[in-house]
Amino acid sequence: MISAQLLRARKGIDLAIIEPSEVHNYQPAWTLVGAGLMKKSATERPEKRQIPKKAKWIKEYVEAIHPEKNEVILRNGDTIGYEYLIVSVGIENNLDAIEGLKDAMGKNGVCSNYVDPEYTWEVLQNFKSGVGLFTQPASPIKCPGAPQKIMYLSADYLRRNKREGDTQVVFATPGTVIFGTEPFKSELKHYVNDVYNIPQRYGYKLVKVDGEKKEAHYERLPLPNGSKNYVVNDDRNAAGCIGFVYEKGVKYVVEEENNHVDELKEGTHFIIKYEMLHLAPPQSPPKWFKESKLANPEGPNKGFMAVDQATLQSRFYDNVFGAGDCTDLPTARTGAAIRKQAPAIIKNLLSVMDGQVANHNGYDGYSSCPLVVSHNKMLLAEFKYGNVRSSDPLLSKLFNLGKASYPMWLLKRYGLPTLYWHAMMKGYKF
Ligand SMILES: Cc1cc2nc3c(=O)[nH]c(=O)nc-3n(C[C@H](O)[C@H](O)[C@H](O)COP(=O)(O)OP(=O)(O)OC[C@H]3O[C@@H](n4cnc5c(N)ncnc54)[C@H](O)[C@@H]3O)c2cc1C
Repeated sequence: MISAQLLRARKGIDLAIIEPSEVHNYQPAWTLVGAGLMKKSATERPEKRQIPKKAKWIKEYVEAIHPEKNEVILRNGDTIGYEYLIVSVGIENNLDAIEGLKDAMGKNGVCSNYVDPEYTWEVLQNFKSGVGLFTQPASPIKCPGAPQKIMYLSADYLRRNKREGDTQVVFATPGTVIFGTEPFKSELKHYVNDVYNIPQRYGYKLVKVDGEKKEAHYERLPLPNGSKNYVVNDDRNAAGCIGFVYEKGVKYVVEEENNHVDELKEGTHFIIKYEMLHLAPPQSPPKWFKESKLANPEGPNKGFMAVDQATLQSRFYDNVFGAGDCTDLPTARTGAAIRKQAPAIIKNLLSVMDGQVANHNGYDGYSSCPLVVSHNKMLLAEFKYGNVRSSDPLLSKLFNLGKASYPMWLLKRYGLPTLYWHAMMKGYKF
């Protein structure tokens, strides 16, 4: 996307893309693949068709970047020099980061749309009784809404196939809220509490998966304000309240049994037994990148690329820019975010090429999360830095974007993939 836009913006530049993959994946649709609503093959295109005609494709892995020498080292031993560099290496799944996960993944009902969405669909179809546990790690992940999306789609599938009585969907997250931004948060609370009656556990950090015993082990993280409510979190967190339901807009406190999940306590571990476990694995930039001089050396974003939040310029090297999941930007890592990062990068990069400084504060942290809540409804959550709502003004005029709707589902299923392949990847800005 960035290369295509750059080649349109500045004629005659010498541009190369280093990319080892034969296949380009449209990952946002993997949610639909996991729920049987789209074929995996429909999310794939040959990489060569995505490389702009005027770009040179170097089909190799990068193994190191030496920004002090303006050099990139490839796996085949070649060194590539550059004048300007844009880094977008993404983040990779780290199954080793949770005890037992590597052995457990991909069998006995342990699945992940981040790893193999086709196996998620297989597990869901075979899930006839017991607990379906949906969870995510304490570390940053791409599209943080995706673990919830497949949960709603699974609950919807179980309802449509009349399996609700024998199955129980459970949501356990290290986070403290279902979503950070209103009005999307209220709408998702409505879905999780009223529509699907999903018991929730907040402040739950997954530490171990025992694939043989089908057990997920959690430790409880301290909750804000010293709250002891690990069950259904709510802004008010009233002492003694276990959970809440909403009926016709009125909120009721519910008894524990309405939000009950069988849990065993073993030392510091809280253990939930499952038949189906869907999780997002811990993720981080590749190891070689974390060791590079472009990586943030400290803090919670250690290892992610250190970039200026508004200009996307490297915080350490003026001729280097970063985009996407590998950066340390404090916003949700999504393709939608990159759509808004691309023009800011290009404007600043062209300034630097022309001997000026990168002072175009063109990126405001925009990201979006199309939260599919059923097989025919989607909630388009758009926001920017600070969890501030940033809904598209034109779409807002046409639709109530605070509610999940059928037109937004059509956008997710048909509109966004079409825009991705035929507009974004071709360098058209919109
Ligand atoms: C299940 C799921 C659901 C999602 N849902 C949505 C959604 O609804 N909306 C949305 O906007 N986003 C969604 N996303 C997130 C979105 O797909 C990512 O944010 C986006 O793909 C990030 O782009 P990127 O270029 O930073 O990283 P990637 O798309 O991961 O691309 C990184 C590229 O770097 C290449 N690479 C890796 N290592 C090397 C190396 N050593 N040398 C050279 N090249 C290398 C890879 O081959 C790859 O092509 C979802 C993701 C998943 C997994």
